[in-house]
Amino acid sequence: MLDLTYETPAPKVIAGATGDWELVIGLEVHAQVASNSKLFSGASTLFGSEPNSNVAFVDAAMPGMLPVINEFCVEQAVRTGLGLKAEINLRSAFDRKNYFYPDLPQGYQISQLYHPIVGEGEILVDMGPGVARLVRVERIHLEQDAGKSIHDMDPHMSFVDLNRTGVALMEIVSRPDIRGPEEAAAYVGKLRQILRYLGTCDGNMQNGNMRADVNVSVCRPGDYEKYQESQDFSHLGTRCEIKNMNSMRFIQMAIEVEARRQIALIEDGKDVVQETRLYDPDKNETRSMRSKEEAHDYRYFPDPDLLPLEIEQGWVDDIASTLPELPDAKKSRFMSDFGLSDYDASVLTAEAENAAYFEAVAEGRDGKLAANWVINELFGRLKKDDDKDITDSPVSADQLGGIITLIKSGDISGKIAKDLFEIVYTEGGDPAQIVDDRGMKQVTDTGAIETALDEIIAGNPAQVEKAKVNPKLAGWFVGQVMKATGGKANPAIVNQLVQAKLGL
Ligand code: ADP
Ligand code: MG
Repeated sequence: MLDLTYETPAPKVIAGATGDWELVIGLEVHAQVASNSKLFSGASTLFGSEPNSNVAFVDAAMPGMLPVINEFCVEQAVRTGLGLKAEINLRSAFDRKNYFYPDLPQGYQISQLYHPIVGEGEILVDMGPGVARLVRVERIHLEQDAGKSIHDMDPHMSFVDLNRTGVALMEIVSRPDIRGPEEAAAYVGKLRQILRYLGTCDGNMQNGNMRADVNVSVCRPGDYEKYQESQDFSHLGTRCEIKNMNSMRFIQMAIEVEARRQIALIEDGKDVVQETRLYDPDKNETRSMRSKEEAHDYRYFPDPDLLPLEIEQGWVDDIASTLPELPDAKKSRFMSDFGLSDYDASVLTAEAENAAYFEAVAEGRDGKLAANWVINELFGRLKKDDDKDITDSPVSADQLGGIITLIKSGDISGKIAKDLFEIVYTEGGDPAQIVDDRGMKQVTDTGAIETALDEIIAGNPAQVEKAKVNPKLAGWFVGQVMKATGGKANPAIVNQLVQAKLGL
C-alpha cells in the first residue's frame, strides 16, 4: 500500500546581521522530450551530429514554411503530466514569444504561455527516511529549443549550430515550495527519476537534455506561512532567476551564494532587483545577465500558423493505462512486500532497471537477502568493473537468484557464496552446477566436522585449557575447523560442536 505519511523538513535558515532569513525557491526545468524528431519538423534530434545537419526548412525559418505538430511529443507531455498527477488540458494553444537571437532564426520561440497543455500537479521530494516535501507543479508547457551559438572556436567569428533549433522541450514550472539548496537538488533528482521511469526524457544533464532555471528569494521566518495561507506573493521577497543550470552540485552552490548576496544587500539597506543572473562556478558567484523581462516585453501572441491543440479524453485515458508503476509506489511496495528498509528500497528503485532486476532476484526468495546481494555484492562489483550498468551485468537475475537459493537451502555458506558469485561473474555458468562440479557444498555432515574438530583439539592441548578459562577463545577453534574444511563447514554446526566438546 502507498503510505504517504511523512514529516516535512525544516527550511534552510541563514543567520544574518539583523536576524534569521529563510530561503524560498521555485524551479523552471527544461526537459527535452525523448523524441527522434523535432516538435514541428521531421528533422532528427540525434545528439552529437555534424553541425547544421539536422535542420529542416521550417527549423531554419525559410519563408513560407509551416510548422506541423509532432503527435508523439504531445503524447510525451501528456504522459509526463499524468506521471505528476497533474490536470491535463484537453485544449491548449501555442504562442509566439518574440525576441532576437542569432541562434533563433524565426525571431520568435513557439511556446505555450496562456494555455499550457498540463496544469497543476505535484512531486514528493524525499529528504531521508520518512521525511519529504510535497512540491506543487504549476504547469507544464511544450516549447521549441533554440540553437547554439559558439563563440570560442575562432578569435574573430561566432558560429551558429541549428541542430537543436526546434527540438521539443517540456518546461516544468514548480511553485515556490522548495525551501533549501539540498531540497532543490533533490527536487531535480526526483523529477529526473520520474521522467526516466516514464521514458519521456532521458534526463541526461551533461548533454543539456535537462536543465533548470532557479528562482531564489529570501524572507523572514513566518513570512512563508503567510504566503501559503493567502497565496499572496507580496509576503515573499523579490526573486532572482539563475539561468540554465545543469549540475545538481552547482544548483546547490548557486542557491546558497545567491541567497547570501540578497541578504547582504537587504541588510545593507538596498533592494534586491528582479533580474536574470548567471552562476560562475569558478568564482562561486552569480552575476547579472539582464534585467527581468515581463511577458509583454516578448509581445506574446497566439501563433497564427498553428490551430489550438485539441486532444480527446479517450486518448488521455489510453495513455494513462500505459503508465508504469512510478518511484513512490514502487518504493513503498518494496518496503511492504519485501520488508526492505527505506534506504534499501530507495537505492533499488532509483532506476527502473535496477528495480526490475531486484524483483526478478527476490521473486519467491528472501527479499532482504536478495536486496543485500544486489546492493552490496552486485552493485559493488559492477562499480569496480568500470562502473558498469545493471543492464550490462555479467550476472543475470536468474543466476544471482540461484546463488541466493543455494545460501538459503544451506547448500553453501555465506563465504563460499562470495567465491561462487565471483566465479559466475567472471566465468558465467549455472550456480548449482558449479557448486556440484567444484565440490563447494557446505559440509553439514556432523561426523566429518567432528573428525576435523577432534584432530584440532588433540593437537592443541594448551589452546583447549585457555579456552576453558576464557570461552571467548572458542572462536579460534571455529576458525581452525573452517580452515580445515576449506570454508565449507556449516558455521552453526561447528559452533555447536566446539561448545559441546570444550564443555563451555
Ligand atoms: P515569470 O513568468 O516571470 O518567469 P513565474 O510566475 O512563471 O514568473 O515564476 C517563475 C518561477 O519563479 C516559478 O517556478 C515560481 O515558483 C518562482 N517564483 C515566483 N516567485 C518567487 C519568489 N518570491 N521566490 C522564489 N521563487 C519564486
Ligand atoms: Mg517563467
